[in-house]
Amino acid sequence: MILVAGTGPVGLAAALALADLGCDVILAGPPPSSIDRRTTALMRPAIAFLEELGFAETLAEIAAPLSTMRIVDGTNRLIRSPAVTFRAAEIGEDYFGLNIPNAALNKALSDAVRERRNIRWHEEIVTAWRTDSDYVEALLGDGTAIRASLAVAGDGRNSPAREAAGIRTKRRELNQSALVLNFAHARHHGFSSTEFHTEHGPCTQVPLPGGFRSSLVWVMRPKQAEEMMALDDRALSERIEERQQSFLGEVTVESGRQVFPLVSALPTRFAAHRIALVGEAAHVFPPITAQGLNLGLRDVADLVEMVRKHPDDPGSSLALASYEARRRPDIVARSSAVNLINASLLSDLLPAQLLRSAGLSLLGGIPALRGFFMREGMQPGSGFAALLPRLPRRA
Ligand SMILES: Cc1cc2nc3c(=O)[nH]c(=O)nc-3n(C[C@H](O)[C@H](O)[C@H](O)COP(=O)(O)OP(=O)(O)OC[C@H]3O[C@@H](n4cnc5c(N)ncnc54)[C@H](O)[C@@H]3O)c2cc1C
Repeated sequence: MILVAGTGPVGLAAALALADLGCDVILAGPPPSSIDRRTTALMRPAIAFLEELGFAETLAEIAAPLSTMRIVDGTNRLIRSPAVTFRAAEIGEDYFGLNIPNAALNKALSDAVRERRNIRWHEEIVTAWRTDSDYVEALLGDGTAIRASLAVAGDGRNSPAREAAGIRTKRRELNQSALVLNFAHARHHGFSSTEFHTEHGPCTQVPLPGGFRSSLVWVMRPKQAEEMMALDDRALSERIEERQQSFLGEVTVESGRQVFPLVSALPTRFAAHRIALVGEAAHVFPPITAQGLNLGLRDVADLVEMVRKHPDDPGSSLALASYEARRRPDIVARSSAVNLINASLLSDLLPAQLLRSAGLSLLGGIPALRGFFMREGMQPGSGFAALLPRLPRRA
């Protein structure tokens, strides 16, 4: 029996994927929030993973395809970068991925969990953990004790399970917050996402279904986010339209704006003492280049592979060592890349601005390089694979 702690998208997906493998799963955590206004851009490999779990129809109903992504330098700096456009068609795809409203995704995942016979969901948080060489035990809020051979920690950025496993975390509070909301606009978005780079972080529009609505993630200083939250709808709509240089015409914000303080966190290990970390328990970084949940679903895919290869004792040191070995390169590479991009955006130093500008110029001017980054952005390793010479097949 496997215990999954945490009922965010990653914990729910882990419970479903393990159940599909034939495992008996106990899931612990409250029903996910229905007021999460964020949307998540998931790239094609993550979409394929969700489709395998049975969500193809749901995704077609609730999500919008992302076929073009644009980066525009919206800073007032001395050295500004050229705009770069990435088109999925350039690498032979119809779209890079889908933009999915979090509340709808979480509802679809939790409805599916309730239908699986081999998942027992205790809508309680874990209040205490005990680890032993042969088992891991969780005490739930209602006093129930659950003993399992493996616990999957999907309990978010502050992960009590991670602490119980004795795993230390390097954590940095960033002096940035993300303002999140949806808005209507006069012009059709053409299923494009545009990211305006500003001195305090990106201001990113992502298409929603229908053509005339988009979601917004605007990273800024916490003080500025407070000011934006205090504006009335009309004033905020004007600020957004101005920031986006009116490229979508008149903007009308919808009700329900939210602010998320940003953090960067990386544990020193990804599994120990019969506890394996997934999702934000294993990595937190700013929402730049839409990587967090994509990486979280790759954690789940590798976790399932580990359980498949170690059916007798999926929490054994051997099994956890294989999980650690598979996840470390991907998690460390993605976290470092996103933190580096964020730092380069914030840096006022001329050399950093020069490097960023030169990098984006190269991307804009060299199709092969653009293709490499587009493929790597969707799936690690696929950019390198596309660069390898095609070897003739043996007859
Ligand atoms: C503004 C913003 C925009 C983003 N956009 C994107 C994007 O476009 N693409 C992308 O890939 N990623 C994006 N991300 C990242 C993505 O949102 C996260 O990676 C994802 O939500 C993490 O999910 P999770 O299930 O790991 O954690 P969470 O969603 O935080 O879930 C953790 C769960 O654990 C539960 N829990 C906590 N303590 C306990 C306990 N003791 N016992 C049991 N349960 C417990 C909580 O109730 C919660 O349900 C974005 C993030 C932000 C902030």
